[in-house]
Amino acid sequence: MEKVIEIQQLNKSYGMNEVLKNIGFSVHHGEVVTIIGSSGSGKSTLLRCINLLEIPSGGEIHYRGRNILDGSHHIPSYRKKLGMVFQQFNLFENHNVLNNCMVGQIKVLKRSKAEAEQTARKYLKVVGMEAYINAKPKQLSGGQKQRVAIARALSMEPDVLLFDEPTSALDPEMVGEVLKVMKELAHSGLTMLIVTHEMDFAREVSDRVVFMDKGVIAEEGTPEQMFSRPKQERTREFLKRTFVEHDRA
Ligand code: ADP
Ligand code: MG
Repeated sequence: MEKVIEIQQLNKSYGMNEVLKNIGFSVHHGEVVTIIGSSGSGKSTLLRCINLLEIPSGGEIHYRGRNILDGSHHIPSYRKKLGMVFQQFNLFENHNVLNNCMVGQIKVLKRSKAEAEQTARKYLKVVGMEAYINAKPKQLSGGQKQRVAIARALSMEPDVLLFDEPTSALDPEMVGEVLKVMKELAHSGLTMLIVTHEMDFAREVSDRVVFMDKGVIAEEGTPEQMFSRPKQERTREFLKRTFVEHDRA
């Protein structure tokens, strides 16, 4: 399968703080790749570099075979191909659910209102939120808000969808409904890159798991390799810590 995203020797520093060091990995068409790792290991910074919310300090980001940092690429066209779902939903609070899913289509993709509405309704249905099109975000639960945020991202019909800990801000009883939607998307063949601390979910849906530690990729492999036979001591340590916390919760 073709590589959608390929990262090579990516670096990012804030002042003297090297947050990403020599990161390299790829996401193939139709693949689900999850990124796991402790808080502060650089996962969000990596996603933010990939969609150019942050400018990398060095290295290359290839999108479908072309280095988008070589100065010849039209950055807005690249960014349109990426969808992003954030921990904090980032919905427009003054817009209703339907509008939240239409604004980007109209402004960025220059779709007509009618087409934007049709597309928004289609994806709100996919996430089970079609009954709430007139609601404002403040009337929704966290899980419902995140499902709308996913529908909004899908409405842009991105080539790859990035998620940054989409369930971390949710009350525990709402995590399941969001993971369920994400599982359905994963099985539908969508290309996804997901930062998550939901280990059972990562194990179930990932084609590949990337473990980040202190700004480097410490290990990557299939879920089976990573969770049952991790090679690196620090991967084992991380998993042990995570599952102990999980059992306590
Ligand atoms: P993670 O998502 O894995 O928890 P982050 O990517 O958020 O990790 O952060 C990695 C490191 O980069 C942390 O040490 C954090 O303090 C630092 N960092 C992140 N964003 C900034 C920023 N805008 N300015 C300075 N330091 C930052
Ligand atoms: Mg983060």
